[in-house]
Amino acid sequence: MKDPHQLIKIEQAIEEKYGEDTVQDPKSSWTPGKEKQYLEQIKKLTKLEKTKEKVEVEGVLMPKKLFRKESTRTCQKCNVYSFDLKDDLYMAKFKCCYKCYLRIELKGKKNV
Ligand SMILES: [Zn+2]
Repeated sequence: MKDPHQLIKIEQAIEEKYGEDTVQDPKSSWTPGKEKQYLEQIKKLTKLEKTKEKVEVEGVLMPKKLFRKESTRTCQKCNVYSFDLKDDLYMAKFKCCYKCYLRIELKGKKNV
């Protein structure tokens, strides 16, 4: 995977569609076979959502309904309410907005 954010998007999309149990931590046991599995699921997902409205997130088309969760729109770290779809993904995955995520990332790198 070239883009690490791509994985988050895919994971979230599958999670929304098939339930949380479908998604395991891809970083712990990521194999080409699993990647193929993921891509197959994405294909199915895309087909199912074909007729529905889509939004583009960082160049990837996603069904709009994936982003309707209002409860995840406020960052738990900086309390900023975000309209940014990118923040939605980060809040779902990391419980904070994109900016907070970057801050945490940078902090982590400095400590290494
Ligand atoms: Zn934040």
